[in-house]
Amino acid sequence: MRDTRTFVIIGAGQAGGWIAKTLRAEKFTGRVVLIGEEPYLPYERPPLSKAALLGEVDVDGTYFWPPETYDALGIEVLPGTRATAIDRATKQVSLDNSDTRIYDRLAITTGTRPRLLPIDGAELTGIHYLRSIDDSLAIRADIRKGSKVLIVGGGWIGLEVAATLSKLGCRSVVVEAADRLCGRAVTPDISNWMVKLHQDNGVEVRLGTVVERFEGVSRLERALLSNGESIDCAFAVIGIGVIANTELAAEAGIAVENGIIVDDLCRTSDPDIFSAGDVTNHPNKQLNRRIRLESWENAQNQGIAAAKSMLDKGEAYGEIPWFWSDQHDANIQMIGLPEDWDETATRENPAEAAFLTMYLKGGIIVGAISVNNAREIRVAKRLMQAKKVLSVDYLANTDIKMQAMLKA
Ligand code: NAP
Repeated sequence: MRDTRTFVIIGAGQAGGWIAKTLRAEKFTGRVVLIGEEPYLPYERPPLSKAALLGEVDVDGTYFWPPETYDALGIEVLPGTRATAIDRATKQVSLDNSDTRIYDRLAITTGTRPRLLPIDGAELTGIHYLRSIDDSLAIRADIRKGSKVLIVGGGWIGLEVAATLSKLGCRSVVVEAADRLCGRAVTPDISNWMVKLHQDNGVEVRLGTVVERFEGVSRLERALLSNGESIDCAFAVIGIGVIANTELAAEAGIAVENGIIVDDLCRTSDPDIFSAGDVTNHPNKQLNRRIRLESWENAQNQGIAAAKSMLDKGEAYGEIPWFWSDQHDANIQMIGLPEDWDETATRENPAEAAFLTMYLKGGIIVGAISVNNAREIRVAKRLMQAKKVLSVDYLANTDIKMQAMLKA
Protein backbone atom coordinates (compact mmCIF):
# COMPACT_ATOMS: atom_id res chain seq x y z
CA MET A 1 0.00 0.00 0.00
CA ARG A 2 1.24 3.49 -0.84
CA ASP A 3 2.61 5.54 2.05
CA THR A 4 0.51 8.69 2.47
CA ARG A 5 3.25 10.76 4.09
CA THR A 6 5.19 13.64 2.52
CA PHE A 7 8.92 14.04 3.14
CA VAL A 8 10.28 17.47 2.25
CA ILE A 9 13.99 18.24 1.78
CA ILE A 10 15.21 21.85 1.92
CA GLY A 11 18.46 22.12 -0.02
CA ALA A 12 19.06 20.36 -3.35
CA GLY A 13 22.81 19.93 -3.02
CA GLN A 14 24.73 16.70 -2.58
CA ALA A 15 23.28 15.78 0.85
CA GLY A 16 19.70 16.68 -0.18
CA GLY A 17 20.00 14.79 -3.45
CA TRP A 18 21.25 11.67 -1.68
CA ILE A 19 18.38 11.83 0.82
CA ALA A 20 15.82 11.93 -2.02
CA LYS A 21 17.56 9.13 -3.92
CA THR A 22 17.97 6.95 -0.83
CA LEU A 23 14.32 7.37 0.26
CA ARG A 24 13.35 5.73 -3.03
CA ALA A 25 16.12 3.13 -2.86
CA GLU A 26 14.71 2.20 0.57
CA LYS A 27 11.24 1.76 -1.02
CA PHE A 28 9.55 4.83 0.46
CA THR A 29 6.36 5.22 -1.58
CA GLY A 30 5.14 8.56 -0.18
CA ARG A 31 5.75 12.03 -1.67
CA VAL A 32 9.31 13.31 -1.85
CA VAL A 33 9.74 17.06 -2.43
CA LEU A 34 13.23 18.49 -3.03
CA ILE A 35 13.49 22.29 -2.75
CA GLY A 36 16.59 23.99 -4.19
CA GLU A 37 17.43 27.67 -4.40
CA GLU A 38 19.69 27.31 -7.44
CA PRO A 39 18.22 26.70 -10.92
CA TYR A 40 20.10 23.38 -11.19
CA LEU A 41 19.56 19.77 -10.20
CA PRO A 42 21.90 18.37 -7.50
CA TYR A 43 25.46 18.63 -8.82
CA GLU A 44 29.03 17.74 -7.93
CA ARG A 45 31.13 20.61 -6.58
CA PRO A 46 34.65 19.12 -6.99
CA PRO A 47 34.74 19.80 -10.79
CA LEU A 48 33.86 23.48 -10.29
CA SER A 49 37.44 24.42 -9.38
CA LYS A 50 39.02 21.91 -11.76
CA ALA A 51 37.44 20.23 -14.84
CA ALA A 52 34.62 22.81 -15.19
CA LEU A 53 37.11 25.72 -15.09
CA LEU A 54 39.25 23.92 -17.64
CA GLY A 55 36.16 23.62 -19.87
CA GLU A 56 36.31 19.82 -19.80
CA VAL A 57 32.88 19.42 -18.14
CA ASP A 58 29.66 21.34 -18.84
CA VAL A 59 26.73 21.88 -16.46
CA ASP A 60 25.04 18.57 -17.31
CA GLY A 61 28.33 16.79 -16.72
CA THR A 62 28.34 17.89 -13.08
CA TYR A 63 24.90 16.41 -12.29
CA PHE A 64 24.84 13.47 -9.90
CA TRP A 65 22.02 11.85 -11.85
CA PRO A 66 20.55 12.53 -15.29
CA PRO A 67 17.53 14.89 -15.24
CA GLU A 68 15.06 12.11 -16.15
CA THR A 69 15.95 10.25 -12.93
CA TYR A 70 13.76 12.53 -10.82
CA ASP A 71 10.57 11.92 -12.82
CA ALA A 72 11.35 8.23 -13.04
CA LEU A 73 11.68 8.04 -9.24
CA GLY A 74 8.74 10.36 -8.55
CA ILE A 75 10.88 12.99 -6.85
CA GLU A 76 9.27 16.44 -7.10
CA VAL A 77 12.10 18.92 -7.59
CA LEU A 78 11.47 22.64 -7.08
CA PRO A 79 14.57 24.31 -8.54
CA GLY A 80 15.01 28.08 -8.28
CA THR A 81 12.87 28.06 -5.14
CA ARG A 82 13.95 29.33 -1.73
CA ALA A 83 12.41 28.06 1.50
CA THR A 84 11.78 31.16 3.62
CA ALA A 85 10.36 29.74 6.88
CA ILE A 86 9.54 26.52 8.70
CA ASP A 87 6.43 26.46 10.89
CA ARG A 88 6.96 23.46 13.15
CA ALA A 89 3.51 23.73 14.79
CA THR A 90 1.64 23.30 11.48
CA LYS A 91 4.50 21.38 9.81
CA GLN A 92 4.67 23.78 6.89
CA VAL A 93 7.51 25.17 4.80
CA SER A 94 6.94 28.61 3.22
CA LEU A 95 8.51 29.30 -0.17
CA ASP A 96 9.64 32.55 -1.78
CA ASN A 97 6.96 32.15 -4.49
CA SER A 98 4.28 32.49 -1.75
CA ASP A 99 3.51 28.78 -1.95
CA THR A 100 3.79 26.35 0.97
CA ARG A 101 4.54 22.64 1.41
CA ILE A 102 3.19 20.53 4.26
CA TYR A 103 5.56 17.86 5.57
CA ASP A 104 5.34 14.81 7.78
CA ARG A 105 9.11 14.67 7.99
CA LEU A 106 11.58 17.33 6.95
CA ALA A 107 15.29 17.33 6.15
CA ILE A 108 17.37 20.50 6.19
CA THR A 109 20.42 20.28 3.93
CA THR A 110 21.15 23.95 3.38
CA GLY A 111 24.96 23.61 3.30
CA THR A 112 27.24 26.60 3.48
CA ARG A 113 27.93 29.89 1.70
CA PRO A 114 31.25 31.67 1.11
CA ARG A 115 32.54 34.00 3.78
CA LEU A 116 32.70 37.47 2.23
CA LEU A 117 35.70 39.78 2.36
CA PRO A 118 34.41 43.16 3.57
CA ILE A 119 37.06 45.57 2.26
CA ASP A 120 37.06 48.66 0.05
CA GLY A 121 36.54 47.83 -3.61
CA ALA A 122 34.97 44.43 -2.87
CA GLU A 123 32.01 45.31 -5.11
CA LEU A 124 34.13 45.76 -8.27
CA THR A 125 33.47 43.55 -11.29
CA GLY A 126 36.09 40.81 -11.60
CA ILE A 127 36.03 39.78 -7.93
CA HIS A 128 34.76 36.22 -7.64
CA TYR A 129 33.86 33.64 -5.03
CA LEU A 130 33.51 29.96 -5.92
CA ARG A 131 30.72 27.84 -4.53
CA SER A 132 28.15 27.33 -7.31
CA ILE A 133 28.03 26.40 -10.99
CA ASP A 134 27.28 30.05 -11.81
CA ASP A 135 30.37 31.16 -9.86
CA SER A 136 32.51 28.69 -11.82
CA LEU A 137 31.06 29.85 -15.17
CA ALA A 138 31.69 33.49 -14.24
CA ILE A 139 35.35 32.79 -13.39
CA ARG A 140 35.78 30.81 -16.59
CA ALA A 141 34.47 33.74 -18.62
CA ASP A 142 37.22 35.98 -17.16
CA ILE A 143 40.15 33.61 -17.87
CA ARG A 144 42.65 34.86 -20.49
CA LYS A 145 45.93 33.07 -21.17
CA GLY A 146 48.90 34.99 -19.78
CA SER A 147 46.91 37.14 -17.36
CA LYS A 148 47.74 37.61 -13.70
CA VAL A 149 45.17 36.51 -11.14
CA LEU A 150 44.96 37.26 -7.44
CA ILE A 151 43.85 34.42 -5.21
CA VAL A 152 42.73 35.44 -1.72
CA GLY A 153 42.94 32.56 0.77
CA GLY A 154 45.36 29.65 0.58
CA GLY A 155 42.79 26.98 1.45
CA TRP A 156 41.28 24.29 -0.79
CA ILE A 157 39.44 26.65 -3.14
CA GLY A 158 42.36 29.03 -3.54
CA LEU A 159 44.94 26.32 -4.16
CA GLU A 160 42.82 24.26 -6.55
CA VAL A 161 41.91 27.36 -8.57
CA ALA A 162 45.56 28.50 -8.65
CA ALA A 163 46.60 25.05 -9.93
CA THR A 164 43.89 25.06 -12.62
CA LEU A 165 44.82 28.59 -13.72
CA SER A 166 48.45 27.46 -14.12
CA LYS A 167 47.26 24.78 -16.55
CA LEU A 168 45.43 27.50 -18.48
CA GLY A 169 48.56 29.65 -18.75
CA CYS A 170 47.66 32.23 -16.09
CA ARG A 171 50.00 33.43 -13.35
CA SER A 172 48.49 33.36 -9.85
CA VAL A 173 49.49 35.10 -6.65
CA VAL A 174 48.03 33.40 -3.55
CA VAL A 175 47.59 35.70 -0.54
CA GLU A 176 47.05 33.78 2.71
CA ALA A 177 46.40 35.47 6.07
CA ALA A 178 47.84 32.63 8.16
CA ASP A 179 51.53 31.71 8.30
CA ARG A 180 50.92 28.51 6.33
CA LEU A 181 48.72 27.08 3.55
CA CYS A 182 45.54 25.09 4.28
CA GLY A 183 46.19 25.55 7.99
CA ARG A 184 42.77 24.35 9.11
CA ALA A 185 43.05 21.06 7.29
CA VAL A 186 46.63 19.85 6.96
CA THR A 187 49.66 19.53 9.25
CA PRO A 188 52.53 22.08 9.15
CA ASP A 189 54.88 19.74 7.23
CA ILE A 190 52.26 19.30 4.49
CA SER A 191 51.65 23.07 4.40
CA ASN A 192 55.36 23.54 3.67
CA TRP A 193 55.26 20.84 1.01
CA MET A 194 52.26 22.64 -0.60
CA VAL A 195 54.15 25.95 -0.79
CA LYS A 196 56.93 24.22 -2.73
CA LEU A 197 54.47 22.37 -4.99
CA HIS A 198 52.82 25.63 -5.99
CA GLN A 199 56.03 27.63 -6.34
CA ASP A 200 57.53 24.88 -8.51
CA ASN A 201 54.49 25.29 -10.76
CA GLY A 202 54.82 29.05 -11.12
CA VAL A 203 52.36 30.15 -8.43
CA GLU A 204 53.53 32.95 -6.13
CA VAL A 205 52.62 32.54 -2.46
CA ARG A 206 52.41 35.32 0.16
CA LEU A 207 51.91 34.04 3.70
CA GLY A 208 50.89 36.14 6.72
CA THR A 209 49.45 38.70 4.31
CA VAL A 210 45.97 40.09 3.66
CA VAL A 211 44.42 42.23 0.95
CA GLU A 212 43.65 45.67 2.36
CA ARG A 213 41.90 47.24 -0.63
CA PHE A 214 40.83 46.46 -4.17
CA GLU A 215 41.13 49.27 -6.72
CA GLY A 216 39.84 49.88 -10.24
CA VAL A 217 37.59 52.24 -12.16
CA SER A 218 34.65 49.94 -12.79
CA ARG A 219 36.49 46.64 -12.84
CA LEU A 220 39.21 45.28 -10.59
CA GLU A 221 42.64 46.52 -11.68
CA ARG A 222 44.85 46.01 -8.64
CA ALA A 223 44.96 44.93 -5.01
CA LEU A 224 46.88 46.56 -2.19
CA LEU A 225 48.34 44.08 0.30
CA SER A 226 49.21 44.44 3.98
CA ASN A 227 52.93 44.00 3.13
CA GLY A 228 52.80 47.22 1.07
CA GLU A 229 52.72 45.44 -2.30
CA SER A 230 50.39 46.53 -5.08
CA ILE A 231 49.42 43.69 -7.41
CA ASP A 232 47.98 44.39 -10.85
CA CYS A 233 45.53 41.62 -11.71
CA ALA A 234 42.93 40.76 -14.32
CA PHE A 235 40.55 39.29 -11.74
CA ALA A 236 40.50 37.81 -8.24
CA VAL A 237 39.08 34.67 -6.69
CA ILE A 238 38.33 34.75 -2.96
CA GLY A 239 38.24 31.50 -0.94
CA ILE A 240 38.44 32.46 2.71
CA GLY A 241 36.17 29.80 4.16
CA VAL A 242 32.44 29.24 4.44
CA ILE A 243 29.54 29.97 6.81
CA ALA A 244 26.93 27.31 7.60
CA ASN A 245 23.42 28.22 6.41
CA THR A 246 21.70 27.70 9.76
CA GLU A 247 19.38 30.73 9.77
CA LEU A 248 16.24 28.89 8.58
CA ALA A 249 16.67 26.23 11.28
CA ALA A 250 17.51 28.74 14.02
CA GLU A 251 14.51 30.95 13.18
CA ALA A 252 12.31 27.85 13.49
CA GLY A 253 13.67 27.25 17.01
CA ILE A 254 15.84 24.25 16.12
CA ALA A 255 19.03 23.93 18.18
CA VAL A 256 22.01 25.44 16.35
CA GLU A 257 25.61 25.90 17.44
CA ASN A 258 28.37 25.90 14.84
CA GLY A 259 25.88 24.17 12.53
CA ILE A 260 22.56 22.46 13.05
CA ILE A 261 22.98 20.13 16.02
CA VAL A 262 22.11 16.52 15.19
CA ASP A 263 22.66 13.20 16.92
CA ASP A 264 24.28 10.17 15.33
CA LEU A 265 20.94 9.38 13.64
CA CYS A 266 20.92 12.82 11.96
CA ARG A 267 17.98 13.97 14.14
CA THR A 268 17.75 17.65 15.08
CA SER A 269 16.16 18.88 18.31
CA ASP A 270 12.75 18.38 16.57
CA PRO A 271 11.98 14.64 16.23
CA ASP A 272 10.43 15.13 12.78
CA ILE A 273 13.28 17.22 11.38
CA PHE A 274 16.60 15.77 10.20
CA SER A 275 19.74 17.30 8.78
CA ALA A 276 22.85 16.21 6.85
CA GLY A 277 25.93 17.54 5.11
CA ASP A 278 28.17 20.60 5.61
CA VAL A 279 25.54 22.33 7.75
CA THR A 280 25.45 19.77 10.58
CA ASN A 281 27.30 19.71 13.87
CA HIS A 282 27.36 15.97 14.52
CA PRO A 283 29.01 13.52 16.93
CA ASN A 284 31.86 11.41 15.58
CA LYS A 285 32.66 8.29 17.60
CA GLN A 286 35.89 7.69 15.67
CA LEU A 287 37.23 11.08 16.77
CA ASN A 288 35.39 11.17 20.11
CA ARG A 289 33.99 14.65 19.61
CA ARG A 290 31.45 16.74 17.70
CA ILE A 291 32.47 18.10 14.30
CA ARG A 292 31.11 20.16 11.44
CA LEU A 293 32.64 18.60 8.37
CA GLU A 294 32.97 20.37 5.02
CA SER A 295 33.54 17.29 2.92
CA TRP A 296 32.22 15.61 -0.21
CA GLU A 297 32.12 12.16 1.38
CA ASN A 298 30.25 13.38 4.46
CA ALA A 299 27.60 15.13 2.34
CA GLN A 300 26.91 11.84 0.56
CA ASN A 301 27.12 9.36 3.42
CA GLN A 302 25.39 11.48 6.04
CA GLY A 303 22.66 12.16 3.45
CA ILE A 304 22.18 8.41 2.99
CA ALA A 305 22.18 7.92 6.77
CA ALA A 306 19.61 10.72 7.27
CA ALA A 307 17.24 9.19 4.71
CA LYS A 308 17.34 5.85 6.52
CA SER A 309 16.69 7.61 9.84
CA MET A 310 13.70 9.43 8.32
CA LEU A 311 12.32 5.96 7.60
CA ASP A 312 13.09 4.79 11.18
CA LYS A 313 15.80 2.46 9.82
CA GLY A 314 18.72 4.56 10.98
CA GLU A 315 22.13 3.30 12.03
CA ALA A 316 24.62 5.40 13.99
CA TYR A 317 26.60 7.56 11.55
CA GLY A 318 30.20 8.58 12.26
CA GLU A 319 32.96 7.79 9.79
CA ILE A 320 36.63 8.68 9.73
CA PRO A 321 36.75 11.94 7.73
CA TRP A 322 38.30 11.62 4.26
CA PHE A 323 39.18 14.43 1.86
CA TRP A 324 40.99 14.69 -1.45
CA SER A 325 42.26 17.44 -3.65
CA ASP A 326 43.97 17.58 -7.04
CA GLN A 327 46.56 20.33 -7.42
CA HIS A 328 49.02 20.42 -10.35
CA ASP A 329 50.16 16.79 -10.71
CA ALA A 330 49.48 15.87 -7.09
CA ASN A 331 46.54 13.91 -5.80
CA ILE A 332 46.38 14.79 -2.11
CA GLN A 333 44.29 12.67 0.26
CA MET A 334 43.69 12.98 4.00
CA ILE A 335 42.05 10.84 6.65
CA GLY A 336 41.10 11.94 10.15
CA LEU A 337 41.64 15.46 11.45
CA PRO A 338 45.09 15.06 13.02
CA GLU A 339 45.58 17.71 15.72
CA ASP A 340 47.58 15.92 18.40
CA TRP A 341 50.17 13.20 17.74
CA ASP A 342 53.48 12.09 19.24
CA GLU A 343 55.08 10.27 16.27
CA THR A 344 54.93 10.21 12.48
CA ALA A 345 55.71 7.41 10.03
CA THR A 346 56.39 8.20 6.37
CA ARG A 347 56.53 5.85 3.41
CA GLU A 348 58.14 7.42 0.35
CA ASN A 349 58.19 6.46 -3.30
CA PRO A 350 60.33 9.16 -4.95
CA ALA A 351 60.08 7.54 -8.40
CA GLU A 352 56.36 8.34 -8.44
CA ALA A 353 56.61 11.61 -6.44
CA ALA A 354 54.47 9.78 -3.90
CA PHE A 355 54.41 9.55 -0.13
CA LEU A 356 52.18 8.69 2.79
CA THR A 357 52.64 10.23 6.24
CA MET A 358 50.79 8.69 9.19
CA TYR A 359 50.32 10.53 12.49
CA LEU A 360 50.31 8.33 15.61
CA LYS A 361 49.30 8.82 19.22
CA GLY A 362 50.32 6.00 21.54
CA GLY A 363 51.12 3.82 18.52
CA ILE A 364 47.61 4.27 17.03
CA ILE A 365 47.08 6.11 13.74
CA VAL A 366 45.05 9.29 14.34
CA GLY A 367 45.30 10.63 10.81
CA ALA A 368 47.26 10.39 7.57
CA ILE A 369 48.01 12.38 4.44
CA SER A 370 49.08 10.93 1.12
CA VAL A 371 50.32 12.39 -2.12
CA ASN A 372 49.84 10.26 -5.25
CA ASN A 373 49.36 7.23 -3.00
CA ALA A 374 45.62 6.55 -2.86
CA ARG A 375 46.17 2.82 -2.44
CA GLU A 376 48.12 2.94 0.81
CA ILE A 377 46.04 5.64 2.49
CA ARG A 378 43.00 3.38 2.05
CA VAL A 379 44.85 0.74 4.09
CA ALA A 380 45.93 3.35 6.65
CA LYS A 381 42.23 4.21 7.11
CA ARG A 382 41.45 0.58 7.89
CA LEU A 383 44.35 0.42 10.35
CA MET A 384 43.07 3.60 11.99
CA GLN A 385 39.56 2.19 12.19
CA ALA A 386 40.88 -1.03 13.76
CA LYS A 387 42.89 1.08 16.28
CA LYS A 388 45.91 -1.20 15.69
CA VAL A 389 48.98 -0.43 17.81
CA LEU A 390 51.97 -0.42 15.42
CA SER A 391 55.52 0.93 15.60
CA VAL A 392 56.78 3.76 13.43
CA ASP A 393 59.61 1.59 12.06
CA TYR A 394 57.15 -1.11 11.03
CA LEU A 395 54.72 1.33 9.36
CA ALA A 396 57.53 3.15 7.54
CA ASN A 397 59.15 -0.04 6.23
CA THR A 398 58.35 -0.08 2.50
CA ASP A 399 59.65 -3.66 2.25
CA ILE A 400 56.44 -4.66 4.04
CA LYS A 401 53.24 -4.24 2.02
CA MET A 402 50.67 -2.17 3.93
CA GLN A 403 47.97 -4.69 3.07
CA ALA A 404 49.95 -7.23 5.13
CA MET A 405 49.81 -4.89 8.14
CA LEU A 406 46.07 -5.43 8.38
CA LYS A 407 46.80 -9.01 9.40
CA ALA A 408 49.65 -8.13 11.78
P1 NAP B 1 39.24 26.87 3.63
O1 NAP B 1 39.78 25.62 3.07
O2 NAP B 1 38.73 26.95 5.02
O3 NAP B 1 40.41 27.95 3.45
C1 NAP B 1 40.26 29.33 3.65
C2 NAP B 1 41.64 29.91 3.88
O4 NAP B 1 41.57 31.32 3.76
C3 NAP B 1 42.20 29.60 5.25
O5 NAP B 1 43.53 29.21 5.13
C4 NAP B 1 42.05 30.94 5.96
O6 NAP B 1 43.00 31.12 6.98
C5 NAP B 1 42.30 31.91 4.84
N1 NAP B 1 41.81 33.26 5.12
C6 NAP B 1 40.79 33.63 5.93
N2 NAP B 1 40.61 34.97 5.87
C7 NAP B 1 41.55 35.44 5.01
C8 NAP B 1 41.85 36.74 4.50
N3 NAP B 1 41.16 37.82 4.90
N4 NAP B 1 42.88 36.87 3.62
C9 NAP B 1 43.58 35.79 3.21
N5 NAP B 1 43.33 34.53 3.66
C10 NAP B 1 42.31 34.37 4.52
O7 NAP B 1 38.02 27.43 2.73
P2 NAP B 1 37.91 27.61 1.13
O8 NAP B 1 39.19 27.37 0.45
O9 NAP B 1 37.23 28.95 0.96
O10 NAP B 1 36.93 26.47 0.71
C11 NAP B 1 35.53 26.62 0.92
C12 NAP B 1 34.87 25.29 1.17
O11 NAP B 1 34.99 24.44 0.06
C13 NAP B 1 35.44 24.55 2.34
O12 NAP B 1 34.34 23.92 2.96
C14 NAP B 1 36.33 23.52 1.71
O13 NAP B 1 36.50 22.38 2.52
C15 NAP B 1 35.54 23.21 0.45
N6 NAP B 1 36.40 22.70 -0.61
C16 NAP B 1 36.94 21.47 -0.47
C17 NAP B 1 37.77 20.97 -1.44
C18 NAP B 1 38.36 19.63 -1.27
O14 NAP B 1 38.06 18.94 -0.29
N7 NAP B 1 39.19 19.22 -2.21
C19 NAP B 1 38.05 21.74 -2.57
C20 NAP B 1 37.50 22.98 -2.69
C21 NAP B 1 36.67 23.45 -1.69
P3 NAP B 1 42.53 30.89 8.52
O15 NAP B 1 42.28 29.44 8.64
O16 NAP B 1 43.69 31.38 9.30
O17 NAP B 1 41.28 31.71 8.70
